[in-house]
Amino acid sequence: MAIPSPEQQVEFLRKVQRLLSEGLFVASYKFALLRALADLAVLKGEDSDAELALHVNDIAGAVIELYWRQSRPFYPAGGQQAILKQNTGKQAAIIQTLASVQAEYRGSLPQLRHDLARWNGLVGKVADVICVMPLWKLQRIGDDVVDFLYPNVGKARTITLRPGVTYCLRNFYGLLRNLIEGAWLGYVRNLNLDVLGQTIDFAAFLFGTERTTLDGYRPILLDVQRGSCFYCRRPLTGAGDVDHFVPWSRYPVDLGHNFVVAHKTCNARKVDYLAAEEHLGAWAERNRLHGEALGRAFADASLPYDVSSSVSITRWAYRQTATAGGLVWVQDKTLKHLDPGWERLLAG
Ligand SMILES: [Zn+2]
Repeated sequence: MAIPSPEQQVEFLRKVQRLLSEGLFVASYKFALLRALADLAVLKGEDSDAELALHVNDIAGAVIELYWRQSRPFYPAGGQQAILKQNTGKQAAIIQTLASVQAEYRGSLPQLRHDLARWNGLVGKVADVICVMPLWKLQRIGDDVVDFLYPNVGKARTITLRPGVTYCLRNFYGLLRNLIEGAWLGYVRNLNLDVLGQTIDFAAFLFGTERTTLDGYRPILLDVQRGSCFYCRRPLTGAGDVDHFVPWSRYPVDLGHNFVVAHKTCNARKVDYLAAEEHLGAWAERNRLHGEALGRAFADASLPYDVSSSVSITRWAYRQTATAGGLVWVQDKTLKHLDPGWERLLAG
């Protein structure tokens, strides 16, 4: 029985990482879809190189299972109950649909499943959303089609997992679950800070960044940037965001030289991307010219920094993106492939 080679398995994980770190998510559907595919691979697949055909109704059933709990009101300690938002615009349609039937079945998914006509109706409705939203968008990153999971045919009620995909989903199930759920959790948390703000956020407590300490870096960096945005070079009007040059989501560390100050809008556009070569060059140049002075200022303000670690992390992050053929952020909504010449910028 043929199975994917070790190299193919590594490549698979690399691509999943890329989907989670670079894919822009307007709703949490893509997380749910990825998780559903892993669940279905375990349920219906086998440990071989074989392809696996999945009907969108099967995917919809698995997606409903995932969203069922999440479409109930969340009760923050001492706060107002709310159904957590899972879309950057108005609430995600699947959540709305499920929330509207919760009461009827007293929150019981088995009861809903037992009502076969309703269940099938709901599966059909959710399947329609999946066909429009995440199914053909999951594997698009900017203009790139990274359809390593299934051919991105763009219109169909069935997908076929490519050879080796089912094997990888089954064999790395635990790892993938943690990856997907971690990314999903962070996504929902960011969309619901108003609701979750008053409660202790356990994940942030254990693994989050100490956001409060970043303010100390701002005046020091602004001095070197002469009051302009690091990315677009236009003057900063407000305070500006202290941005992790290598995004926190790529490597969670707060060290002085990894910070730049940017417009809120520039920072929001960059999201979790690495910045393009021109920005990398500017970052390296800033450290060449001002690295030592910055270090002294950070030390005076008792702010953590370590320029050689920052450079190592940056080199690592760009190499990861280069190896994966990933996209980097230029400005506004412009993304491009990382130029192979990036490595020279960090030399010396
Ligand atoms: Zn800017």
